[in-house]
Amino acid sequence: MTITRRRLLTTATAGLALAALPGWRAHASLSLGDWQIDTLSDGVLTLPPDFLFGPMPKDRLATALEGTGIDPTAPLTPPCNVTLLRGRDRVVLVDVGSGTAFQDGVGLLPDALDALGVAPEDVTDVIFTHAHPDHLWGVLDDFDDPMFPEARHVIGETEYAYWTDPATLDSIGAARQAFAVGATRRLESLADSLEVLPDTAAFVPGVMARSTPGHTPGHLAFEVDGGAAGTALIVGDAIGNDHVAFTAPDMISGADQDRETAVQTRTELLAEAASEGTAIVGYHLRGGGLGRVETAGAAYRFVPEG
Ligand SMILES: [Zn+2]
Repeated sequence: MTITRRRLLTTATAGLALAALPGWRAHASLSLGDWQIDTLSDGVLTLPPDFLFGPMPKDRLATALEGTGIDPTAPLTPPCNVTLLRGRDRVVLVDVGSGTAFQDGVGLLPDALDALGVAPEDVTDVIFTHAHPDHLWGVLDDFDDPMFPEARHVIGETEYAYWTDPATLDSIGAARQAFAVGATRRLESLADSLEVLPDTAAFVPGVMARSTPGHTPGHLAFEVDGGAAGTALIVGDAIGNDHVAFTAPDMISGADQDRETAVQTRTELLAEAASEGTAIVGYHLRGGGLGRVETAGAAYRFVPEG
């Protein structure tokens, strides 16, 4: 639930939210140099299996899913992990969840922030990996006011250009036209609080954007600089699930808009994270989304941490 004009029903709904708190609302944490990294659950999406598996060859898919417990004919229920970065006098959100206009079962970020004692007004920066509904639409509350009224909002220039180009509505395909309408409206609503930066800029001091295209044209990952403690990599949907993306990363995915480019991005990120031991945060990975990448035969496995 989001509601708000400053949480109109806070007292009435808080008890409900806590009572309903189920086990999938995993929360993961990592202390990295100056930064405290927490992942907050926005809830769980429900997607038809073909959204992801549709273009995958059936025999390869069956092999890729062995041992994962995923049924390729059942609805997919990916978790949604928003990243909260606190440090250097900043309170940063990486993506903001779905809000209440997209699906049931998501839009729970405001409750997760409450539970950590973070008020929407405390957030100084909102930075976006990409502009799909489950990452962007929570930026407005149920009154279409900004959910984080004191924050600057930052998006990469390629992603911004794509979603604000009127031609996108015609080229994106019928199944995703609502994504385009919703993204355009929200980005325009942010008006003066929105900054559009180059795809490799520091979006926040110590948080560097990195171009990771394919899932969307301007998808970004973020490198969090922890100094001597190392780097964490927030990968968004560039590594979009913790099963086939790891066990068969070279297999094209229906979730990606440019599927071949997404394969290239995914395989490079996985190889790098595995060889360097980098902590990653994935938006739709289990266990709160924070963990490491290990090699497993010719492919990989996700090892949650935190
Ligand atoms: Zn997503």
